[in-house]
Parts: sequence; structure tokens; C-alpha cells
Amino acid sequence: MSSPQTRALRINMVELLRHPGSERTIEHEISAEDLGCQLAPGQFEISGDVVVGVTAVAATDDVAVSGLVAIPWSGECRRCLKAISGVHNVDFDERFAPARDRDRLSSVDGDLLLVEGDQIDLVEPIRETVMIETPTSVLCSDDCKGICDVCGVDRNEVPCECVVVVRDDRWAALDDLHLDD
Ligand SMILES: [Zn+2]
Ligand SMILES: [Zn+2]
Repeated sequence: MSSPQTRALRINMVELLRHPGSERTIEHEISAEDLGCQLAPGQFEISGDVVVGVTAVAATDDVAVSGLVAIPWSGECRRCLKAISGVHNVDFDERFAPARDRDRLSSVDGDLLLVEGDQIDLVEPIRETVMIETPTSVLCSDDCKGICDVCGVDRNEVPCECVVVVRDDRWAALDDLHLDD
């Protein structure tokens, strides 16, 4: 799982920690395949390279890496099935520390990601971010009218006269409710 694509997402942590306050910025585009993303059924397709723009900042004991991960996606509107696409920008914010400092650090902070060796490898946390954040269900607009169940027209484009009786199960509980008070 090491290629020039994934190597670009490594940060030399030891070097950074030698100079608290020092920074390193990574701007990198990487395909979902190179990241090793496997999306769940129902998730939208990732339609292009994932764009990573993060800055690593060294403190005395740990390195904070924060920035944005932009996921381009495409798919169909859940209601009207129109092709839609967009870019989902996700905040990335993690802190890393050397695993050899484990004993000293564990009392301080449970949110640190411990790193074996000298390099922070962002592939895994970014892969997880992309797999979790790639949208599963999106509407083309909040008030998409969807497709008519009776005649099949896209009701956003063609109004139809069909009468559709929609029973909303959320109200079913009210049928059994007797307001005796
Ligand atoms: Zn729609
Ligand atoms: Zn209709």
C-alpha cells in the first residue's frame, strides 16, 4: 500500500517535533482507489480525486494536523432520480504523537493518535474520513417534488393531477390515542 500517491500523505513527525511551532502543509489530490476506499452500498460514487489540504503544526509533544478534505461525488436525487453532483468539504482535525511517549501522554489526552515510527501517515485517517463522509442520500433540492407514483412524471417539471394518498406512519400512533382528559 505504498505508492508515490500515498507517500505524499506522509509527514516526518520527528523532524517537526524537533522544532515546536514549525509547520508543514500538504496539498494533494488522490483517487479513491489509491486511498483504498470501499464505499457502502447506497453511498454515492466518488466522481474525481479527493483533494486534501492540511497543515501540520508541531507542539512540544504532539503534531496537530488540520484542514479540509474535499470529496467530489455524483449520484441520483433520492426522490426524482435526476443526476446530481457536488463536492462535500469535510473538516479534518487530528493530533498525532509518538507511540514511544505513550506512558507520558496517556494521562494527558485520550484523543491522540499514536504513531509507531517517525512518520505520520495520513492515508488511514483520510480514508476513514472519506468512507464515513461520502453522502448516501441527497435531494436535488430541499423541496424536490419527486416522481409521481401514479403517472411517473417528474413533478418538478410537469405538474400532474393524480391524487396520491400517502399515509404517513408517523401519524398512525395518533389513531390509538384517546384524549379523555
Ligand atoms: Zn429531485
Ligand atoms: Zn401523476
